[in-house]
Amino acid sequence: MAEAEPQGAMTTPARLYERIGQFLEDHRLSPDPAHYAFVHAILTEPNGSLARAVASLVDGGVRLHQDDIARLGGPTGASRPMPEPSSAEPKVARETAAERIALPEAEARSDELAEQTENQVAAFMTVIRSFQADTTAFGVNLARNVAEMNRDGGIDLPTLATLTGEMLERINATERRLEQATAEADTLREKLAEARVTARRDPLTGLANRLAFSEALGQCFQVTDSCHLALCDVDRFKRINDDLGHATGDRVLHSIGKILAEECEGHLVCRHGGEEFTILMCGLSARQATALVERARDAVRSRRLRVRETGEPVGEITFSAGITALTPEDTQETLFTRADALLYRAKKEGRDRAYIDS
Ligand code: GH3
Ligand code: MG
Ligand code: MG
Repeated sequence: MAEAEPQGAMTTPARLYERIGQFLEDHRLSPDPAHYAFVHAILTEPNGSLARAVASLVDGGVRLHQDDIARLGGPTGASRPMPEPSSAEPKVARETAAERIALPEAEARSDELAEQTENQVAAFMTVIRSFQADTTAFGVNLARNVAEMNRDGGIDLPTLATLTGEMLERINATERRLEQATAEADTLREKLAEARVTARRDPLTGLANRLAFSEALGQCFQVTDSCHLALCDVDRFKRINDDLGHATGDRVLHSIGKILAEECEGHLVCRHGGEEFTILMCGLSARQATALVERARDAVRSRRLRVRETGEPVGEITFSAGITALTPEDTQETLFTRADALLYRAKKEGRDRAYIDS
């Protein structure tokens, strides 16, 4: 575990660079600018409050996590931890091609935030570098003056006072710049948190989207609890659009999402895309999972929706579903393939039904 050395121990830039690298490696932090700036700050200010806070966190060989860096006011966003060495491949890809296609707005937003984060890190680096240059120059001037004073046999108080005064002014200016940069970093952190939520929500229904679902599913693979996936597809939805218009179709989808979320409270309901919804049910037996989906289907079928503008009835809405249990051997792909086959059978055999394979 790398530790902060006393100030005198830090000699050449190459040595500093080496120590920063060692620190990043010890703590499995990726060598991106955000982490580099953070470690640079603690190693060049070993007696500063940040270095002390880090020292107390890593005391006893504990590894520093990127959340600690965020909490201590270090730059975030661009930062990613180095992956832990792992023998097994993750079962769920973090981001599938379909998700990338489904989230252009969220991607644009995250690109913008990543750019802001990079600028923020650059600003921090500039402040830190100029402060470092100031302290180095101060040290050199001080040493030279003290040497001259010793040689001349007396302390030149006015010179010392001028030097110290100049340094204090610079420290104050640096503090103001750091305060401003920290406030900007806080705002950025809030925006990043907001963007994280938005990227996981379907804007039409307010439900979780495919990305959120994929992440939740990834966690389900880690637990032994009995989990079931239901893939639901609204029957003959195209007709609603054709007969009543796309805007009404949108409102119907919103209503279906709301009914499903109410009926399946405690389970994760997601808009998978178009007129398809997924439900992730954990802690239920196959019989209970089927009963829950049947209850949701009854609730959707018995809801009497009307066109907002005309009051015209929308008519009975039904959906078909394929339900399957997660097994330890499953990947996201095998799971969806099974649910999809069951859904296809439900459609083929007349719609308005749910099939389960266990
Ligand atoms: P099936 O019973 O075989 O599933 O028939 P279907 O008409 O539901 O299926 P199909 O795949 O032929 O049509 C799905 C329709 O869903 C077509 C598409 O326009 C509509 N749709 C998909 N996403 C949206 C949306 O966000 N809003 C609206 N209004 N319609 C959508
Ligand atoms: Mg469909
Ligand atoms: Mg459909």
